[in-house]
Amino acid sequence: MEEAGGKAPNGRVALARGVAPLRAAVARFRAAGESVALVPTMGALHAGHLALVRAGRALARRTIVSIFVNPAQFGPNEDFSRYPRTLESDLARLGEVGADLCFLPSVGEMYPPGHATRVVVEGLSEGLCGAVRPGHFAGVATVVTKLLLQALPDVALFGEKDFQQLRVIARAARDLDIPVAIEGVPTVREADGLALSSRNAFLDAGERAVAPALYRVLAGLAGPLAAGAEAGPLLAEGRDALLRAGFPRVDYLSLCDEETLAPVPRVVAPARLLAAAHLGATRLIDNLPVRPRPGEGP
Ligand code: AMP
Repeated sequence: MEEAGGKAPNGRVALARGVAPLRAAVARFRAAGESVALVPTMGALHAGHLALVRAGRALARRTIVSIFVNPAQFGPNEDFSRYPRTLESDLARLGEVGADLCFLPSVGEMYPPGHATRVVVEGLSEGLCGAVRPGHFAGVATVVTKLLLQALPDVALFGEKDFQQLRVIARAARDLDIPVAIEGVPTVREADGLALSSRNAFLDAGERAVAPALYRVLAGLAGPLAAGAEAGPLLAEGRDALLRAGFPRVDYLSLCDEETLAPVPRVVAPARLLAAAHLGATRLIDNLPVRPRPGEGP
């Protein structure tokens, strides 16, 4: 495996195992006048991640993918230790899709002894997943801020699948004057609608059969909501439908303003319908855009 070079031949992705080799590689790209995209991931790469890499390649000459399972964004009872780690196949996929560099920082370098700074995005981090995963978005915002400052890309790409995360990161980058464009990429789904997720690997056959109901329920609500229907009763029906479909626990099913993520009673401006629900030990999230349809009332 080539270390910290430019684009390797034969479809192999070059590696940077620390911040110094990352910065050296970016400096070489910059010296050649090349633009840079960054795709932060936690590995266990699937077609959703690869869509981000392709979007990066469309926007910049060089695309860097970071793989770092970030302990700071997992709660004490969450799945940090059993989170899937599949580095060899991740690197093969990155080679096939034409990523230029894979950044593999260590926990020790990201969080050296005495590390004491956290990035907290107020408001946006508090509802939805933030309400049930205290500290999660501070962990995300902190690590992404570090990755952005380490790589200093022109653009960084994030999936709409984690829509609250996308909004939190865009806000942090703007508030902290980090000179990077934050771009969202639409969710990549299985044929039955299930959003691709590294955590889908945890689903057993029975849970996998139930899982697409999350998307189906969201898709069923999106039409009437776009037409201006009152959200309250529809969201209550949707929650019941999820329980009936076999999700034993629904963390939330909410209609929110697309920018602020504040709950909205009906769709009069671009909105997002978001849900999180549990299947066994796995927690699934999904969301859909809901645009007001002009000329249609409830
Ligand atoms: P993760 O490795 O789960 O932290 O995800 C890394 C990036 O990939 C994040 O920006 C995610 O939003 C994005 N991502 C994850 N799943 C999908 C998907 N199904 N479609 C598009 N992007 C995704």
